[in-house]
Amino acid sequence: MSKLPVIEMFGPTIQGEGAVIGVKTMFVRTYGCDYRCGWCDSAFTWDGSAKDKVRMLAPEEIMAELNALAGDNFGCVTISGGNPALIGEGMGTFIRMLHERGIQAAIETQGSRWQDWFYDVDVLTVSPKPPSSGMKTNWEMLDGIMDKMKTQGSSAHSLKVVVFDDEDYQYAKSIHRRYPDVPLYLQPGNENVTEEGDISARLLGRLEWLFKQVIADPGMNKARVLPQLHALIWHNKRGK
Ligand code: SF4
Repeated sequence: MSKLPVIEMFGPTIQGEGAVIGVKTMFVRTYGCDYRCGWCDSAFTWDGSAKDKVRMLAPEEIMAELNALAGDNFGCVTISGGNPALIGEGMGTFIRMLHERGIQAAIETQGSRWQDWFYDVDVLTVSPKPPSSGMKTNWEMLDGIMDKMKTQGSSAHSLKVVVFDDEDYQYAKSIHRRYPDVPLYLQPGNENVTEEGDISARLLGRLEWLFKQVIADPGMNKARVLPQLHALIWHNKRGK
């Protein structure tokens, strides 16, 4: 059976972002990313600095570890990376295993790859990266993903754009125009992911800036602006 490259598992905690914000969840973080975002807050999933922490695990081994960590104290598992969409069949098996136990699967990916198991994800967040990341969006791929999810997907899917500056905001608007029927979440970027101590005042300042952009903008009437909730509480600490 296909194994998955897992770099960390933790929880239960509260999901701090996107469509499942506020939900109690376990986290499974996979290793490897096809992007190199300049402001990546989880570069350890691809830059080699934590390669010794990567384990190739079968879906049932991941399930067993989650149970050992939390027993039955969770009903949702968030799978993030890196880019979980780099993983094929093993992920589909893991998602089916979660469903057999009545557990929801929430996944975030940047929309650079398609996997057929997207159809089975309960909450799929597609998070294309704005210009400040230094990455270029593959629009053909993104259009294909959004089209398949719209026409054949049964799961809730949404878009999330992290916004650092005016150019990113314009990018988020172009996403909203391109996929007007898909819920869009905007989130201010964290400009210093290594700062220690209480960063909530800085993050709230950026949230207020983003609020003001959206409030003044008739082109964003259906977008939702959210903080990184967990960062307001736990700041830049990892594994929270
Ligand atoms: Fe980091 Fe996500 Fe960008 Fe990959 S897509 S480099 S994990 S921010």
